[in-house]
Amino acid sequence: KLYNQVQDLKGNIRVYCRVRPLVPGQSHTSVDHIDERTISILTHSKYGKEAKKSFTFNKIFGPSVTQAEVFSDTQPLIRSVLDGYNVCIFAYGQTGSGKTHTMTGPKELTEEGLGVNYRALADLFHLSKERKETISYEISVQMLEIYNEQVKDLLSADEIRNSSLNGINVPDANLVRVSSPSDVINLMDLGHKNRSVCSTALNDRSSRSHSCLTVHVQGKDLTSGNILRGSMHLVDLAGSERVDKSEVTGDRLKEAQHINKSLSALGDVISSLASRSSHVPYRNSKLTQLLQDSLGGQAKTLMFVHIAPEYEALGETLSTLKFAERVA
Ligand code: ADP
Ligand code: MG
Repeated sequence: KLYNQVQDLKGNIRVYCRVRPLVPGQSHTSVDHIDERTISILTHSKYGKEAKKSFTFNKIFGPSVTQAEVFSDTQPLIRSVLDGYNVCIFAYGQTGSGKTHTMTGPKELTEEGLGVNYRALADLFHLSKERKETISYEISVQMLEIYNEQVKDLLSADEIRNSSLNGINVPDANLVRVSSPSDVINLMDLGHKNRSVCSTALNDRSSRSHSCLTVHVQGKDLTSGNILRGSMHLVDLAGSERVDKSEVTGDRLKEAQHINKSLSALGDVISSLASRSSHVPYRNSKLTQLLQDSLGGQAKTLMFVHIAPEYEALGETLSTLKFAERVA
């Protein structure tokens, strides 16, 4: 409900921009200024003169903003899942910009470091207990990975057949009932282990695949017996960096083309929803097919775009901000 009060005319789509701290030892930054809703980037004009470009979003989180502060602006959206809404939260940005930090947390996980995924589930458990006199909730999760347009179940060893992809339900994917934050931590660990089986030291697959934690909530009204269903997709997207086609070949090129295709398909879907276009091109990628029922209609979407503040990342920073501007 709070979410409904704060949302603007764009309806159910919000874009937040998060800037991570500079890498230690680096000081040359492309970020000129940040305020509540606007980020200004230092660029150079073609005459070498300093120039600035500003972008406006629903919210900007600067480098010192904590995980708890980021979550407090996400929380109202998560609460609406218990009221039967479908919610999608995406982390977008180049590799190293902080997507996994936002969604999962840093490698050495501490209480303060916990990311959106964990906090969202902890919140769902907490709220569902608060309502237990009137509604009885069941919460279950799935973890999927999309790599080269193939969907893999991270909670089992099997590959999912593409034929089973329809809407939010991937019937062949393991759906695991959870009832506490520690259940979720254990499942996330299992998912991360299954994912790393596919990576080699030189090939960190996590930056080249999308990973999706899906939470299904079913509530039964104890007086009327009515059932309500809500869902939440928490998506850590593949790195958005462009690869130089003249430098990569073979598998690397194929990966890059698949990522490119699915991220632009996602951008096309969200921007056509934002502009209330009558045709929404869901069919152009596995990612948008998988999330079709949770993008558009009554569903709520939040995109976190991540910025690496180093000056050398300027090219990617501008392309990330342009992507974000298109969907905002
Ligand atoms: P990505 O998933 O986009 O490739 P990561 O989340 O792995 O990027 O972040 C890269 C590094 O930067 C990690 O070591 C991470 O812990 C650190 N980092 C990212 N965002 C923040 C932040 N907001 N505060 C502190 N450290 C961060
Ligand atoms: Mg990552």
